[in-house]
Amino acid sequence: MASDIKLTFLGTGGSWPAPGRHLPALAIQIDDVLNLFDCGEGTQKQLMKSNFSFMRIKNIFITHFHGDHFLGLPGLIQSMSFNGRKEPLEIFGPEGVLDIIPRTLSLGYYSLSYKITVHELAPSAVYDFGKFEIETLGNDHTIPSLSYSIKEKDVMKIDGDKAKEIGIPSRKLEKLRSEGSVLFNGRTVFLSEVLKGKRRGRKIVYTGDTRPMESMVKFAHKADILIHDTTTDSSLEPLVNEYGHSSSRQAAEIARDAEVKYLYLFHFSPRLDALSTLLDEAKSVFPNSILSRDLMEVSVKVSKEIIPVD
Ligand SMILES: [Zn+2]
Ligand SMILES: [Zn+2]
Repeated sequence: MASDIKLTFLGTGGSWPAPGRHLPALAIQIDDVLNLFDCGEGTQKQLMKSNFSFMRIKNIFITHFHGDHFLGLPGLIQSMSFNGRKEPLEIFGPEGVLDIIPRTLSLGYYSLSYKITVHELAPSAVYDFGKFEIETLGNDHTIPSLSYSIKEKDVMKIDGDKAKEIGIPSRKLEKLRSEGSVLFNGRTVFLSEVLKGKRRGRKIVYTGDTRPMESMVKFAHKADILIHDTTTDSSLEPLVNEYGHSSSRQAAEIARDAEVKYLYLFHFSPRLDALSTLLDEAKSVFPNSILSRDLMEVSVKVSKEIIPVD
């Protein structure tokens, strides 16, 4: 039975912390798997204020190796060890991850109570994590950087009446759904005979740092949530683009063109106190724009829409 995807914004600022704004980190629980996206300084303290236990994190995805996105790792890793973690931890990132993570984790003296495996991910690739997939897109930033799409797999829906008609016992339905056919009363029943359609898997896209990119429109297409770099408003666009970031206007244009459900503005410049201009500007382009804030929780409910199988 599918449950809500639960997301908590742990830090929503960029570059360096500002009062009330920690550095980038997002906790996303999908099914029973807790994932962390980016781990800015102070992430473990933010996790302690959230409803997620840092001990339950299974996968950590780093968008890129600017300090604001990964310097929280040494403290978090060592705290997990202090608390006797035994479960292995997987860390993923772009080019450079295999060099930078071991160096980051070799700081100081401590012994690790669990195993860490580091994986380099390629841009424009899809990785299977069981009930969900992680897709990557190379960003237009100043160093190697990835956007991540977290996509729940589509779920095939069986027409209960048709299944009853054929007489397939309900205990065999899961096998039929997962394997595509099942042997029953001496004959093979195929999934296509009882298929009602499919429930579209939910999709969350997190960009990390990037200039606006045309390729993001396709990458984020129909996402339930797009969390996009929104470092400043458009008055500073040339400057913010030069440094590899996007303005609120540019992020909203991508959200509109990608037909996402909601855009969460994210990675605010620490030079900004008030964020209302960013929100107003984004809303004038894409009304479903929302300002992310530290410790904000968002749930993405199971879609009720059943679409035909192509
Ligand atoms: Zn950043
Ligand atoms: Zn950066």
